[in-house]
Amino acid sequence: MITSSEPVVIVGGGQSGLAAAHAGLSAGLRPVVLGAGVEPVGSWVGYYDSLTLFSPARYSSLPGMAFDEGDPDRYPTRDDVVAYLRRYAASIDVEIRTGTRVAAVHPRPGGGYLVHTDSGDEIGATGVVAASGSFGNPYLPVLPGHDTYAGEVRHVAHYRRPEPYTGKRVLVVGAGNSAVQVAYELAPHARVTLATRAPIQFMPQRIRGRDLHHWLHVTRADLLPRSVLTRLIRHAAVLDTGVYRDAIASGVLARQEMFTAFTADGVIWADGTHEAVDTVLFATGYRPNLDYLAPLGALDDGMPRHVSGVSTTHRGLVYLGLEFQRSFSSNTLRGVGRDAAHVVAALAGGVSGRSLRRLPPMRRLPIPR
Ligand SMILES: Cc1cc2nc3c(=O)[nH]c(=O)nc-3n(C[C@H](O)[C@H](O)[C@H](O)COP(=O)(O)OP(=O)(O)OC[C@H]3O[C@@H](n4cnc5c(N)ncnc54)[C@H](O)[C@@H]3O)c2cc1C
Repeated sequence: MITSSEPVVIVGGGQSGLAAAHAGLSAGLRPVVLGAGVEPVGSWVGYYDSLTLFSPARYSSLPGMAFDEGDPDRYPTRDDVVAYLRRYAASIDVEIRTGTRVAAVHPRPGGGYLVHTDSGDEIGATGVVAASGSFGNPYLPVLPGHDTYAGEVRHVAHYRRPEPYTGKRVLVVGAGNSAVQVAYELAPHARVTLATRAPIQFMPQRIRGRDLHHWLHVTRADLLPRSVLTRLIRHAAVLDTGVYRDAIASGVLARQEMFTAFTADGVIWADGTHEAVDTVLFATGYRPNLDYLAPLGALDDGMPRHVSGVSTTHRGLVYLGLEFQRSFSSNTLRGVGRDAAHVVAALAGGVSGRSLRRLPPMRRLPIPR
């Protein structure tokens, strides 16, 4: 059990770090947030300009503070989220060190951790919450001929607005929300094709006049673990009011089966034809950004070893904000607070993921039909 007055160090000053700090205070811990950014607003400042949340304001807040006093059914913008996180950080009585990147975490003889920052500071900690997101670690698949391609290859993490692509031939690779949203936004400016392995699956944004998140909330489907959810939904699906489906069906937004290789000036499509291409924009996701835990031996090929966010390798180490950490909503504004309470309780109680492994599996919730 953590009782010492030494801090629990939270790595990452985004929504996950702030939710961990809030939960830590409630549990009587002394959280200290170390964030690499200039402000504790996470990666939202780096997301593309036109981004609006996929959930309405009423389903987009962290514990203890409503999103804002605006219309709870509107879809907030990226800048609304930044403003919200700024207010949230100011509202909690926690030490937040911005501009502080954690370089490494080492075990300390006798227990606890030494957290090393890139400015050379060394901070003793009874526990560590790894809440450093994934936006800093975009995933780029390597395809045949990649090295020979002289055109532009970018990850969607670096996309901000369509104007720089005006008049270009652009391929957007991916079948998720970012791929479809960005390709749709680019279509009036550039010659765009979505390159995907399979046809895109859609999920309705509104059902019977209510936003999907209303139904996720009332059916509790938002809390389903991955194992149950993947039995219900086989493919990742793009949230859509109908505009994306119509754009693809009408050819306003072209989709083609994924190309098989790069050439010096373009790609080879699945049917063997060659096409010259200016830019390939990969919307192929992210991996957890946890390099600083490598010296500890807490990772398996860069991925955390954990049960529901509690490390299975190190007592006093927990994770927050991982995709599907405990449920569909783990990596969202509306879901991270629930996981924060869970991992902080484990931290405060001195529980390790090893002992969690012996607990009975999560109770099954009724599956909505
Ligand atoms: C394009 C896009 C759209 C999304 N839209 C939605 C949405 O509509 N609704 C929703 O709920 N969720 C959405 N998400 C998912 C998720 O809510 C966000 O990704 C959110 O930013 C995750 O918050 P986080 O705090 O876990 O990570 P981040 O926001 O990435 O914050 C992590 C912070 O840790 C810092 N950091 C990293 N490494 C270190 C280190 N070594 N030392 C110190 N600091 C470090 C980073 O600089 C960053 O500031 C979206 C994600 C993306 C990529």
